[in-house]
Amino acid sequence: MSAAPRNVVVIGHGMVGSRFAEEVVRRDPGGQRVRVTVVGAEPEPAYNRILMPELLSGRLEAEELRLPGGEAPAVTVRTATAATAIDARARRVSLSDGDALDYDELVLATGARATLLPVPGLAQEGGQPAPGVATLRDMADCRRVLSAARPGAPMVVLGGGLLGLETARALTERGARVSVVEPAPHVLPRQIDAAGGEILAAELANLGITCYTGQGAARWLSGYGMELEDGQVVAADAVVVTAGVRAETELARAAGIAVERGVLVDDTLSTADPRIHAIGDCAQHKDGGAGLVQPGWEQAAVLADLLTGTAPNARYSGGRTVARLKVEGVELTSLGDVHADDEAETITLADPPGGRYAKLSVRDDQVVGAILLGFPDAAATIAQLYDSYAPVPQDRLALLLGRSLPETTEQPASGGTGDAVVCYCNGVTRDQLDAAWRDGARTRDDLAATTRATTGCGGCVRDVNALVAAWSERDSGPNDLVEAARA
Ligand SMILES: Cc1cc2nc3c(=O)[nH]c(=O)nc-3n(C[C@H](O)[C@H](O)[C@H](O)COP(=O)(O)OP(=O)(O)OC[C@H]3O[C@@H](n4cnc5c(N)ncnc54)[C@H](O)[C@@H]3O)c2cc1C
Repeated sequence: MSAAPRNVVVIGHGMVGSRFAEEVVRRDPGGQRVRVTVVGAEPEPAYNRILMPELLSGRLEAEELRLPGGEAPAVTVRTATAATAIDARARRVSLSDGDALDYDELVLATGARATLLPVPGLAQEGGQPAPGVATLRDMADCRRVLSAARPGAPMVVLGGGLLGLETARALTERGARVSVVEPAPHVLPRQIDAAGGEILAAELANLGITCYTGQGAARWLSGYGMELEDGQVVAADAVVVTAGVRAETELARAAGIAVERGVLVDDTLSTADPRIHAIGDCAQHKDGGAGLVQPGWEQAAVLADLLTGTAPNARYSGGRTVARLKVEGVELTSLGDVHADDEAETITLADPPGGRYAKLSVRDDQVVGAILLGFPDAAATIAQLYDSYAPVPQDRLALLLGRSLPETTEQPASGGTGDAVVCYCNGVTRDQLDAAWRDGARTRDDLAATTRATTGCGGCVRDVNALVAAWSERDSGPNDLVEAARA
């Protein structure tokens, strides 16, 4: 007689908790090995948090953000239900509705929460955002921001990181007049250097976004705007604070599980209690990864391998990440150490009138860092080189200009090596897309349904569209051409 399925409880039905359930179903569709119960504090079923700026801009509707959550007979999802305590000895989780769940294995996927900066006026006494103040982490935040984003409304975004700029751009698309306040000397201090930051700020100004850099916010004056450290007031009806997140670790800490910045996990994604695991933004692995979806999704797959027993030797070992700014009208990719000028051979290209800037740092013939603003083709190639630790061709300038691609590497649209990653969030290679195409996937949506490419941050949509166009042309026979000519 086979053993009863193990009872896995997942706390958090966000991007990683829902992906874990989906990965379990892929490995164990009938639920013979594992039964999963996911509890999620948010009222909505899982959605793609990364695409919330698209909701703000009006380009997507809320339903279009829905994520698959592992719908299957062996998966139960309880939305609007928070876990309130973990009893690790009894292996039981208490819930906000008074119920309790026993577990064989517990998965923490509680994510992170947005932090409000300690700027006077931003928070009310209980720590809640003051009127006119919002963060952007969940749908409730999104609705709050949307209610302030009227055409012509002056708004401030506090924090000029990736999220801040994406939010600012989305709000301008709604017609708001947006200012970004960033205390560092330039926006995107982690992704770009001073010279590139200046060109980027000019590009943002062309899109109607004013950047105030080099000084922080001093006070939020409700009804007036944001007072800066030098005393000037940036007029605003509302402020969106995009100044970082903190891992949601309170439950774990209260249960005696070791926590630093996040819940400490090893390569099997287990805490010191082997029955309790953590994945996604709430987890802290020695090789990093929190804050981005790709490592969280990879962790979800590894943990599903382990808990279903389908790959008992699976391990999470971290990996390289590539940052892309998803702002309509601006193409920016940043990777590795972008301030490596002193320790690496560095080549830069600046074209302020064209709004373009490129910087490539190479050590021992390998990419150690790159900033590519307005160089989408070079960005795709250099990201590939970085990801695969491949040698950089001798003619660095030609590489930046997209004229000399390494022998084994071409632009994704025209070919490219099969193992080149196209969708970083889901780790989908060109070979996998090609195989799906040959199996009959003929549109971007078909390819997304088969491979998951484009379903993460959306940064690869352009590349996948280009592949669809190139392959359609390649495969269109004489009859298709006649049909196309008639159409
Ligand atoms: C606007 C925005 C843009 C982003 N852009 C990018 C991007 O371009 N690229 C990228 O890689 N990443 C991006 N991110 C980050 C990405 O969204 C996160 O890395 C990802 O969501 C992490 O998934 P998670 O499941 O760990 O956490 P979350 O998605 O935050 O999910 C955690 C869930 O757990 C729930 N929860 C917490 N505590 C409890 C409890 N006690 N009981 C029950 N449920 C609980 C929360 O309510 C939440 O629903 C962006 C984030 C935002 C907000």
